[in-house]
Amino acid sequence: SDNRVAVLVPGKIHPRVLETLNGRFDIVALDRSESPRVDAETAARVRGVAVSGGFDAVWMDAFPNIEVIANFGVGYDGIDVRHAASKGIVVTNTPDVLNDEVADTAIALLLNTLRQFPQAETWLREGRWVKEGPFPLSPFSLKGRRVGIYGLGRIGLEIARRLEPFKVKIGYHTRSPRDSLPYDYYPTLKEMAQSVDTLISIVPKTPETHKVINAEILSALGPQGVFINVGRGWSVDDDALIAALRNGTLGAAGLDVFYDEPYVPAAYLSLPNISLLPHVASASVPTRNAMADLVADNIIAWFGKGAALTPVPETPVKSKA
Ligand code: NDP
Repeated sequence: SDNRVAVLVPGKIHPRVLETLNGRFDIVALDRSESPRVDAETAARVRGVAVSGGFDAVWMDAFPNIEVIANFGVGYDGIDVRHAASKGIVVTNTPDVLNDEVADTAIALLLNTLRQFPQAETWLREGRWVKEGPFPLSPFSLKGRRVGIYGLGRIGLEIARRLEPFKVKIGYHTRSPRDSLPYDYYPTLKEMAQSVDTLISIVPKTPETHKVINAEILSALGPQGVFINVGRGWSVDDDALIAALRNGTLGAAGLDVFYDEPYVPAAYLSLPNISLLPHVASASVPTRNAMADLVADNIIAWFGKGAALTPVPETPVKSKA
């Protein structure tokens, strides 16, 4: 085993990643902590990392010979990519294999938020249909809505395509417009919020997207307005959203992601006009298997062919020197 490349797995990861890597690499499994507890000899042997969750500069510096960090997930905000880039380490993520699943979830969460299907099912399960009669009519409908998608990347585009048969009006905001699409482009989020009544956020967590969904944006959506978040909780000013949902400045919201997961503000739990999911947008067995395979395949490709399959743009190292 001493001749085999050592791959570090800090904390938990999808079991299929370990199954695939186990036969080919020497796995170094460590608990998550502030800094790694590992002897110098083992630390020096580690050349690859497979990780789900986060890998900061302290961890990176503890292993002097890391070449590749394969992140489980398309969002890689948990990895210090600037630090990795400065050290010549390539970081990979899992794009595309989860687009359909996450877009499906966005549509489901949108419909749940508008039509209150989870609450209606609870009504049935609690025997209230028999005792009290039909579930109350949902105040909102998808019919005739104007939907603005904040972020029209790989996943945002799949959300837009799924919205087409619903016959809603579709627009989007990104920093640069995408070529030849039949959707309205808005150069600012504010302008889009003023023109639509339904906002879906699917942007990454970056310094520029911090709490951009604020009181001004939410009130621009209006009392009939609906906000859906399948991107990152980081993009939302929770206090503003809670206030807007309470006082009717905004009609309803649907959230799959939160600022400090797994903690969800207590106010959300007590509001009737919100639909909540525990970050499950990509969480099906087939999609998580595909993500696990792409994590393992990036490591295998790097050490086998000398090229990563899906490096992130900050570390665009396709192949070894
Ligand atoms: P992409 O990189 O393909 O798309 C990102 C989009 O966001 C692009 O259209 C980009 O356009 C836009 N964008 C980025 N920064 C800004 C900004 N400051 N202002 C306006 N638009 C911006 O990523 P994916 O579609 O693959 O994934 C998007 C994110 O979704 C992930 O990073 C992740 O955080 C989240 N996600 C959540 C999941 C869940 O379980 N809920 C599952 C999967 C992903 P432009 O560069 O032109 O601005």
